[in-house]
Amino acid sequence: MQNLRIPGPTPCPPEVLTAMGHQMINHRGVEFADALKDVTAKMKKVFQTQADPLLVTGSGTAGLEAAVVNMLSPGDSVLSVSIGVFGERFAKIAETYGADVVSLSFAHGQAADPEAVRTALENNPAVKAVLVTHNETSTGITNDLAAISKIVKSAGKLLMVDCISSLGSINVPVDEWGIDVAISGSQKGWMVPPGMAMLAVSEAGWEAYAQSKMPRFYFDLGKAKKSLEKGQTPWTPNVSAVLAFRVALNMMLEEGIESIFARHTRMGNFTRTGVKALGLNLLADERYASNTVTSVIADQGLDAKKLNKIMREEFDIVLAGGQGPLEGKIFRIGHLGMVKESDIQAVFDALKLALPQAGFTGKSEQR
Ligand SMILES: *Cc1c(COP(=O)(O)O)cnc(C)c1O
Repeated sequence: MQNLRIPGPTPCPPEVLTAMGHQMINHRGVEFADALKDVTAKMKKVFQTQADPLLVTGSGTAGLEAAVVNMLSPGDSVLSVSIGVFGERFAKIAETYGADVVSLSFAHGQAADPEAVRTALENNPAVKAVLVTHNETSTGITNDLAAISKIVKSAGKLLMVDCISSLGSINVPVDEWGIDVAISGSQKGWMVPPGMAMLAVSEAGWEAYAQSKMPRFYFDLGKAKKSLEKGQTPWTPNVSAVLAFRVALNMMLEEGIESIFARHTRMGNFTRTGVKALGLNLLADERYASNTVTSVIADQGLDAKKLNKIMREEFDIVLAGGQGPLEGKIFRIGHLGMVKESDIQAVFDALKLALPQAGFTGKSEQR
């Protein structure tokens, strides 16, 4: 079986795949209403929120777009705190819909500096909302969202967070951190195929919704909230993904969210330690290195594209490459969702053989 080690889509448990194959049911019937209510109640536990997280059909980016069109208005000033490709994407969506984006960017591999966020807010008092990526999948960095949130909240701004590759894997106490809209996507730590985004909106977020003048139709979260009261979605949902999500959430709650977070911490440490032992260098500032994805620098003669090809063709292990400006400069190992030590050990065992074939001249530690 292929060892899919990319940061989403992630491998799905067999039980989830079986649920994906369930015969269709009436999306306006009681069976679906039961499933949606159950999924909503269980999502709340993982999001650690009192709000009912809403589902939209689409990938994670649909969730980011939904957040923008439901909470902002054209001409609104927003602060984009970006540390990579996904931060840029969130900003681009806001800009596309006519928001006035103030950019605060950090070098790839670095986390956002909360003090710089404070200064940017002081210098731009008109800012209404702050867009930030919790876990930047393109570089393998987890921002100190607790610290950023304190600053954003004390300045009285809306906090809009891309938690797509952290929620469900890394601790994100949505209510405690005052996140006004927390966005995730089914194909990351949730162990469900792509096709659903999930959004939790705070009370202040709903007040912003009431004021928002962005054009929107399909992604109107007010409609989603209203439909949820009847156990429905405004439009035909991804029925299969909802049924699969129910199974995945049951598995997650059985493991327990604390255990899931601890397992991801272990995976992150295990991956970083192993990668370094092979003589490779990490892109991420280790103080903020992500526990869901590890980015590795292609230096010491290493051809990252060649490496990923060898890993796939000869070892049936699929790694991710670099995105945007990091294309060819790094490779990435996903370790979120359904993952255990042996899955990562298999990556190390193959890397030992594949690295020299891909030009790597670095020396591994004797282990
Ligand atoms: C995966 C991901 C997205 C969304 O990408 P889609 O391909 O639209 O699902 C956005 N932000 C982050 C941080 C991600 O990891």
